[in-house]
Amino acid sequence: MKYDVMIIGAGPGGIFSAYELINQDSSLKIAVFEYGNPLEKRHCPIDGDKIKSCINCKSCGIMNGFGGAGAFSDGKYNITNEFGGTLHEYIGKKKAIELMNYVDGINVKYGGGKTKLYSTANSDIKRLCLQNNLHLLDASVRHLGTDINYEVLQNMYTDLKDKVEFFFNTPIVKIEKLDAGYKLYTKQGEEFTGDKCIVSVGRSGSKWMEQTCKELKIPTKSNRVDIGVRVELPAEIFRHLTDELYESKIVYRTEKYQDLVRTFCMNPKGAVVNENTNGIVTVNGHSYEDPALQTENTNFALLVSKHFTEPFKDSNGYGESIARLSNMLGGGVMVQRFGDLIRGQRSSAGRLNKSFMTPTLSATPGDLSLVIPKRILDDIIEMIYALDKIAPGTAGDETLLYGVEVKFYNMEVELDNNLETLHKDLYVIGDGSGVTHSLSHASASGVFVARHILGK
Ligand SMILES: Cc1cc2nc3c(=O)[nH]c(=O)nc-3n(C[C@H](O)[C@H](O)[C@H](O)COP(=O)(O)OP(=O)(O)OC[C@H]3O[C@@H](n4cnc5c(N)ncnc54)[C@H](O)[C@@H]3O)c2cc1C
Repeated sequence: MKYDVMIIGAGPGGIFSAYELINQDSSLKIAVFEYGNPLEKRHCPIDGDKIKSCINCKSCGIMNGFGGAGAFSDGKYNITNEFGGTLHEYIGKKKAIELMNYVDGINVKYGGGKTKLYSTANSDIKRLCLQNNLHLLDASVRHLGTDINYEVLQNMYTDLKDKVEFFFNTPIVKIEKLDAGYKLYTKQGEEFTGDKCIVSVGRSGSKWMEQTCKELKIPTKSNRVDIGVRVELPAEIFRHLTDELYESKIVYRTEKYQDLVRTFCMNPKGAVVNENTNGIVTVNGHSYEDPALQTENTNFALLVSKHFTEPFKDSNGYGESIARLSNMLGGGVMVQRFGDLIRGQRSSAGRLNKSFMTPTLSATPGDLSLVIPKRILDDIIEMIYALDKIAPGTAGDETLLYGVEVKFYNMEVELDNNLETLHKDLYVIGDGSGVTHSLSHASASGVFVARHILGK
């Protein structure tokens, strides 16, 4: 079977490439190869009761399948060049924002219209932050919520499935460059050829991407890792920020080390959840649009970036080791009250039970100072005191810190301004390229490459 365009990966990057290609030229033959299941068959067996930890399914229900890593995410589409990737460095700031707005329009069309688009523009919170040495990054954010995000994806799939060929449970193991076009080899031993190939394999495809770049002699650069904790506190404390902005990305430069610490993935009235990356349990958070599913707590991550280059280059390996250490001591995610951390004592189940706030994740009470490197922990503590000035109560005794939260990034693939590799007609987009690390940027990169191909 020969295709005009072959897409590897059905995450936001791959989906939006397929969407744009087929909607602009319905005569195109397009194939999408996806490691995991269709959306309705994606399921993680961990129920916290019978199955407590990862049983290494054939494909991960959370990371693989239609919708990619974003399928069960909070569905926060941030429209900004300030974070979420460096797409603008390739295609220009104006174009990047234009494409992110275009993606937003499509999400609205497929069921996101009932959700709200928040914005930092003209917000008094920006001034409040500046007065306290904190920097609020500019962004608009469409919060779909885990529930509506799922609905949007389902509607998109229903629309695309008869126009584009989807191959689920079909990991691609090798890309071969032909005299004209490319041949893809699947794990099952099938072969497919096509004129053009878009690779959009996300975080979960990072190891395969690295190996593919080696085989095709495509240069790469190491990327950073973000390490920190997830903070959980009563929703009231952050209400003035979350009601107006939903998500605020706030950056602080610490006095002690001059490091940057930032808030990440804010979930008003949300829940803290476990995340499984290659068998290592880290922490994350999400929230719902449906009031019936909301909690009384707000959570967000505080992260510090680390980028190693010489002689040690493996930034992701460093993050993994810290996460493994927390798993070793806590059997999974650890939780500590901020007051206990400051007093240098381990949190205990007894003290947690006496708290006024109910944790949304059952984690092992422990001591994060035994896990997180001093410099990073000092940075986080300083940031919590800084946030306390704009949201009093943040540095409260009962504020919960879950650890560790680690954000892994793919190595950066060398690409030109069209996101094309040194091999003609072979493109790498989304998080797998190291260029993006968010839903908006990954989706926009998919539309961008589709339009470039159509232009050819
Ligand atoms: C729990 C969680 C919550 C998140 N919340 C948000 C959020 O609210 N807002 C936000 O902006 N970002 C969020 N993110 C990040 C966001 O999901 C990613 O940035 C985005 O999904 C990247 O899209 P992508 O298409 O590049 O990659 P992915 O979504 O990772 O999709 C890649 C796809 O490729 C498939 N694949 C991998 N290797 C192969 C192969 N060899 N052959 C075939 N298929 C392959 C995978 O199975 C996967 O389905 C979250 C991530 C997680 C894990």
